[in-house]
Parts: sequence; structure tokens; C-alpha cells
Amino acid sequence: EKATPSNFIKNIMVEDLHNGKHDTIVTRFPPEPNGYLHIGHAKSIFINFSLADEFNGKTNLRFDDTNPLKEDIEFVESIKEDVKWLGYEWENLHFASDYFDEMYKRAVLLIKKGLAYVEDFSADEIREHRGTLTEPGIESPSRNRSIEENLDLFERMKNGVFANGEKVLRAKIDMASPNINLRDPVLYRISHTNHHNTGDKWCIYPMYAFAHPIEDAIEGITHSLCTVEFEDQRPLYDWVVKNCEMEATPRQIEFGRLNLTNTVMSKRKLKLLVDEKIVDGWDDPRLPTISGLRRRGYTPEAIRAFCEELAITKGSGAVDVQMLEHFIREDLKLKAPRTMAVLKPLKVVITNYPEGQVEMLDAEINPEVPEMGMRKIPFSREIYIEQEDFMEDPPKKYFRLFPGNEVRLKHAYFIKCEEVIKDENGEVIELRCTYDPETKSGTGFTGRKVKGTIHWVEASKAVPAEFRLYDSLILDEELDEDGGTFLDHINPNSLEVAQGFVEPNMADAKPYDKFQFFRHGYFNVDPKHSTSDSIVFNRVVSLKSSFKL
Ligand code: ATP
Ligand code: MG
Ligand code: MG
Repeated sequence: EKATPSNFIKNIMVEDLHNGKHDTIVTRFPPEPNGYLHIGHAKSIFINFSLADEFNGKTNLRFDDTNPLKEDIEFVESIKEDVKWLGYEWENLHFASDYFDEMYKRAVLLIKKGLAYVEDFSADEIREHRGTLTEPGIESPSRNRSIEENLDLFERMKNGVFANGEKVLRAKIDMASPNINLRDPVLYRISHTNHHNTGDKWCIYPMYAFAHPIEDAIEGITHSLCTVEFEDQRPLYDWVVKNCEMEATPRQIEFGRLNLTNTVMSKRKLKLLVDEKIVDGWDDPRLPTISGLRRRGYTPEAIRAFCEELAITKGSGAVDVQMLEHFIREDLKLKAPRTMAVLKPLKVVITNYPEGQVEMLDAEINPEVPEMGMRKIPFSREIYIEQEDFMEDPPKKYFRLFPGNEVRLKHAYFIKCEEVIKDENGEVIELRCTYDPETKSGTGFTGRKVKGTIHWVEASKAVPAEFRLYDSLILDEELDEDGGTFLDHINPNSLEVAQGFVEPNMADAKPYDKFQFFRHGYFNVDPKHSTSDSIVFNRVVSLKSSFKL
């Protein structure tokens, strides 16, 4: 694989190895199991795994499971599956909750050093005393408790003597610090909640800012990579590592968070869409979740190539979703067999073709990859074409089928529209055409030219299929991620379903098989809704785009 280009994180690693601070690189990907992974996580996974790999280092998968209220084993399993599917192998699998004993000991150590105290204030009172950017915070009376009293109270917190919210453990740092994160941040809270891993053993749980540096240090993480919103927490991260007397000294480094246009990314919003059944589960093909992209038809290769491109383009703001689409087109172009599908069928009877005869035509599977070989397509007197490839009263420059006009059927013959059959409502239900046997594809016929080539499927052997065509989930390009009212911006037409036909050679297409349907784009066999007698295709992406890298 291609080495990642030089970047500031890599430069730090090179220097740390060069000056002997570390002799190996260890990173971690630390998801909280409170939802499914999304494309933003893929960026983080890519950065952590590929940087470590470049130095022959290691990457752990660690579940940051310190908040039992929101976490679930379903999410643990889906995250493992998604990381593996993306093509990464973790060195060790850890749960932050496995370190709860160690974290408790370190908290006791802080108390013994006079660096932590038990607080009686409620969450609101703590907030009210925290001060602002321009005003220092106000010290709490609890700050002056003796070490003995703090040790006793903290132990009683652990033993379940107090109710949720009655007490917290705070670091004793500096209520006047210009960095609000250092104004005696909360280290432990009480939550009488069963935990998916530790059961009812604990009723106090560490806060992220305390737990994360300890987790990193325990695992010997050398570089703890996270997104920019944690930048202000870095001094607290270092404070915890130092004052808890951790042996290892991991270093936190921040990188840019990925946002994509026309979608939502935060797990809170994704969960709402799932819980409110606005989408078809966490793996809905419209979602930017890894499982949604997989079901849509994305490949790990395309997602990794996208992340690699992100690593070098350092723009802020949302990345155009068309850039992601660019990479799946590039990947499928040479991989996907090409075939024909009629999404909205209109029946055509070829009146001068012998009744009962079916001939097999030859077509290349992918003209860009001749090694993929040829396929056979049946042709007979009755075929389906696309409804939109016929117009009774066409505008100028319409080169498809209309009364009296001749077009090429891809891989087959020229046909000419002779008669239009309508139902009692005037809807066109069938066309009568003639074909010219001289014009068979591949015979080198040059007698005359036609301007339009359309696709088709032979009717008697056609395989019925459902096609799901997707559009952006969110209408606006960019949403204020914390705006809260994103539900007002949902595209009511993000899913269009069509019932049509595919070539018979696709009768045994399997879930996740991918095809390029002539003129329609790339499609993936849906693993959730396809059955043995009804195939459902998700459109991954259409063929054309104006997007340029
Ligand atoms: P969200 O806010 O979407 O719920 P999170 O940050 O709470 O995500 P975690 O499970 O804590 O999700 O994230 C695991 C790792 O993935 C963290 O290191 C986090 O910084 C990183 N990460 C999450 N979202 C993104 C993103 N959009 N771009 C890049 N990295 C991300
Ligand atoms: Mg998080
Ligand atoms: Mg979050």
C-alpha cells in the first residue's frame, strides 16, 4: 500500500522515534459503543491504523465504555464488524471498563495527594460557579475538605451510599485558570446503572477527561489521536497522566473532524433517525454509517481511498459528498460487470420478428476489462424498454424512440416505432416496432446511422427486480450540527422505488454483488430485503458527475 504523505502527526512520530522518546508507535481507535460507526470514524480509523502501520507499530481497538446509560453490546459487535470490514486488524481489543479498578486507585491517589475532593454541589451549582471566559470561577466550600474526609466520602460514593447526582469527585486544580477545563473538572459521577461489561459492580463511573488519559497510559499508547474539539482538554489530559503517576506518557494530538455535505453525522442524530423509524435501521443506505454505506454498495477500498485523500486535503468545513461518490465510481468502474436493467418498463413487440424464436446475443461483460469475458443475452419478439426512452411528441433533439423513429438497441438491432398502443385513459402501454436483421450489433453494419442507443431486456426471460434510487437525506448542503432542528431539513424524496426487470443472467445475483446498469449507474444487491425470488438493488451512485478532485 501507498505510504501516507507527510503530515504533522507523522512528523511528530518520526521525531519521537528519532530522539528516542519511543521505540515503537502505538495508537488506538477508541469508539464509545453508543451507536454505529460512520464515515467520520473511518477517517479516524484510517489515521490511527495507517500511521502506526507505517512505523510497523500497533493499533488497539478500545471500547470507551464509561457511560453505561447509552451503551449497548449490539454497538460493540457492529463496531468490531465494521472495523474488520474496512480492512483493519487491531492488535489488542480492550474495554475501558476493564480498567475501572485501576482508575479508582488512581483517583484515590489524587485524593491522597490533595489533588481531588468530593463535591456536594449539584451539576447546576457546579456550572454556576464555573465562571466564564472573562471571569474566574468561584471556589466551592467542599474544596477545603480534609484528605481523610474525602477518602471516606469517595469510598462511600463507591459503596452506593449516595443517590445519583448527590456527590461527584472533582480534581483540585485552579478555579481561576483561563482554561475552563482546568477549573476543578469532575472526575467521577454517581450512576446507579447496570453496565454491559461490569454489571452492578460499580455505581460510580469515571468521566471521559479522567478515564481517557489513564486508558491510553495503561495500554502504552504513544500518540493519542483525537478530533479538534478536544484541543482545550489537552492540558487536563497531561495533568491526569502526570498527577496519577502513570508510567507511560501518551501524547494527545488533534486532527480535523470530518463533516460531509447533505447528511448528518453525529450519533445522537443518527440514533434519532433510527429510533423514530425515519430510516430503515442503522444500515439504511442513505446514512453515512459504515453499515449503511456497505449496504448501499460502497467498498472498503473506496472508503479507504477517500480517507487517504482527506488526510492530505486539509480543508475546514464540510467535504462534498460527491468526493466520496467519486471514489466508489473509480473503484467499481473496473470491477463491476456491466449489464442492462429496465427500471420503469414499457413493453415493445417487434412485429416482424418470428414468434416463439429466442436468439442469444453476445455482449462484453466490461469493455474496459476484456479479461472479464462475454455474456449471452436473449432477444426475442417481446422486450421491455425504459418508459422514458419513448415520447409520442418529442421535443427537438430527442434521439430516442418516437413514432417513425429508429434507434439502436444496445448489443442487438435497430428498431423502428410503427404504432403506439394506449389504454382507455390514454396511457401508452405498448409499442409496436419493426427491426432490421441487417443491423445486428457486431456485424459491422454501416448502411445507415441512428442517433440514439437505448437499453432493453427480453420479456419472456426477464427477471423481475426492485430498484431503490437514493437522493440526499438532508436538503441543505451544510447544517449547523448542533442546530437540533435537522428533522425539518429532511428530504422527503430521498428514496424512490421502481419495479422493473434485469437480464436473466442475474437471476442468482447474491447480496452485495455489484453491477453497472447501462445508463443508470452502479447498483448493489441489497442484503436485507432481497429474497430468493425477488432481488432488490440499491443504486450506489449514478454514472455521471461534474465533480473533479
Ligand atoms: P459523534 O459525535 O459522531 O457521536 P464521537 O466523537 O462521540 O462521535 P466516538 O465513538 O467517541 O464518537 O469516536 C471514536 C473516535 O472517532 C474518536 O477518536 C473521535 O474523535 C473519532 N471521530 C468521531 N467522529 C469523527 C469525525 N466526524 N471525524 C473524524 N473523527 C471522528
Ligand atoms: Mg465520544
Ligand atoms: Mg458524541
